[in-house]
Amino acid sequence: MSTQRFDAVVVGAGFAGLYMIHLLRSEGLSVQGVERAAGVGGTWYWNRYPGCRCDVESIDYSYQFSQALEQDWVWTERYAAQPEILAYAEHVAKRFDLLPLIRFETSVTRAHYDERAHRWTVETDKGDVFDTRFLIMGTGCLSAANTPDFPGLRNFTGRTFHTGLWPQNGVDFTGRRVGIIGTGSSAIQSIPIIATQAADLTVFQRTANFSVPARNRPVDPATVARVKANYADYRRRARQQPAAFGPDNPRNADSVLAATPEERTRRFEEYWQLGGFMFLGAFGDLAFSEEANAYAAEFVRSKIRETVKDPSTAELLSPKGIIGCKRLCADTGYYETFNRANVHLVDVSRQPIERFTAKGLVTGGQEYAFDDVVFATGFDAMTGSLLRIDIRGKGGVSLNEKWAAGPLTYLGLMVAGFPNLFTMTGPGSPSVLANMVTGVEQHAEYIRDVIGWLRDADAAAVEAEPHAEDEWVQAVNARSQMTLFPRCNSWYLGANVPGKPRVFMPYIGFPDYSAKLESVRAANFAGFALQR
Ligand code: FAD
Ligand code: NAP
Repeated sequence: MSTQRFDAVVVGAGFAGLYMIHLLRSEGLSVQGVERAAGVGGTWYWNRYPGCRCDVESIDYSYQFSQALEQDWVWTERYAAQPEILAYAEHVAKRFDLLPLIRFETSVTRAHYDERAHRWTVETDKGDVFDTRFLIMGTGCLSAANTPDFPGLRNFTGRTFHTGLWPQNGVDFTGRRVGIIGTGSSAIQSIPIIATQAADLTVFQRTANFSVPARNRPVDPATVARVKANYADYRRRARQQPAAFGPDNPRNADSVLAATPEERTRRFEEYWQLGGFMFLGAFGDLAFSEEANAYAAEFVRSKIRETVKDPSTAELLSPKGIIGCKRLCADTGYYETFNRANVHLVDVSRQPIERFTAKGLVTGGQEYAFDDVVFATGFDAMTGSLLRIDIRGKGGVSLNEKWAAGPLTYLGLMVAGFPNLFTMTGPGSPSVLANMVTGVEQHAEYIRDVIGWLRDADAAAVEAEPHAEDEWVQAVNARSQMTLFPRCNSWYLGANVPGKPRVFMPYIGFPDYSAKLESVRAANFAGFALQR
């Protein structure tokens, strides 16, 4: 196949890739999009498991670059379900005529930088070779599915599914014996629904997770009308929030430690009733003081004890650690599901899943037989989708070598030694700790502007300066140390993937990050070096 030449190749057609393609084409660049899936939507294309929906409210979890789009699109639920979010991504792709620019069912396998030409050679599993000046990775932070390497898995004769690679046409569990491994957000959303279909559902839990009721409901037309009347202002205020959403959500700054026991309970109850992440806004010190956090954790445990009838199941479901340290889950009827006679909970914290057999799996010396096993085992987050590609920068150094001890980036956007390569919502940016649609828009616009700066200067390439990268990595680490985040085995730290370096990957705090981007821009893109 002959080599095709472009100004930019954009990998991924989720929210990041779609907007990036749109912007670069608007700038007059020739752009080729490449996407493994058969359609757009990324996360919302792949995660079709029952119950899948967003946990950032749809009024926030949507693009803001087009006022007409913002006004026209109508969400039906407070937290839209996967089919609706996918329909939105498809609508955007059609509305902005992006589909002709994307090659679907094609995976980028290799990308090597030619230092003399200042260009990337990009290869795909379909045999394409693209010669491009800019390579932009919109490959997703939660798109590389993690299926643990259980011995004997191939011997299992039943069906297996991963929540993040769910079959296009859904799965019928009616009358079947189902096992599900994991109790993260994907499991917590799907378990209540699978339980109503399956004859029998067994949940294998390694770590109990904190979950708060989502209190999903149809959107309130009055709220939508109010927000849409001044959406730009709403978005501006949202960007000033730590996680870039919910500017009108109630949030208290006072300390839980200063409150009386009655005040604590009343306030926690009030915020519990609001639904979703708002719970953690009940007091101002929950994310910073372990002592303060323990009150919120105990409140949730009291709710679990109230809800789950069998005391030993309630105890097993009660998380021991810091609430909000692993990503908080938002559910609809999760704990209630364990009152059903057909749902069983198996603790694999001390006796891990040993192996699969033809009939099922073995843990604690006991075999459990299933027709179907669901892996709700998460993702090789933030770095997985990048490191699964053979990316080589200057001197033939691979990204895998460069990141052997953990990801190194400048602003989560560029990697020293890899000119003209951009990582959207990469490690070192707020990414998964903020409203990700806002994060991808911010990155797409910044990448456009860095490219514009390079073109205005008539330069051939742009690269992060090593000292700027070092300083930024230190800033990201220092920031995380000020919080409780590093104190648990979360995927933010890579702790869910055996052998992955334990480094806290996202930058905490969207507003400070935005201010940093703007100060870098004002200083003529300090920390980015042009090459001629
Ligand atoms: P993705 O949507 O992951 O898209 C990346 C695309 O790149 C994928 O389609 C993938 O196929 C493609 N790709 C990867 N590697 C290659 C390759 N080598 N070649 C070709 N194509 C490739 N975030 C929030 O802010 N709020 C939420 O409520 C929320 N809910 C979520 C629910 C679930 C179930 C999951 C898994 C994540 C959720 N997230 C949420 C995070 C979500 O991933 C982001 O919000 C957002 O969708 C990311 O968009 P993206 O375009 O950056 O990446
Ligand atoms: P996850 O949070 O990483 O959960 C994976 C689960 O699998 C954990 O309970 C984990 O246990 C378990 N697990 C992994 N390997 C195991 C093993 N070998 N044996 C037993 N158990 C094992 O993954 P996820 O649920 O897919 O969610 C990932 C992220 O995607 C979320 O945090 C969120 O950001 C996003 N998401 C959002 C929503 C939403 O509500 N909008 C829904 C789904 C996903 P340990 O905890 O012990 O590691």
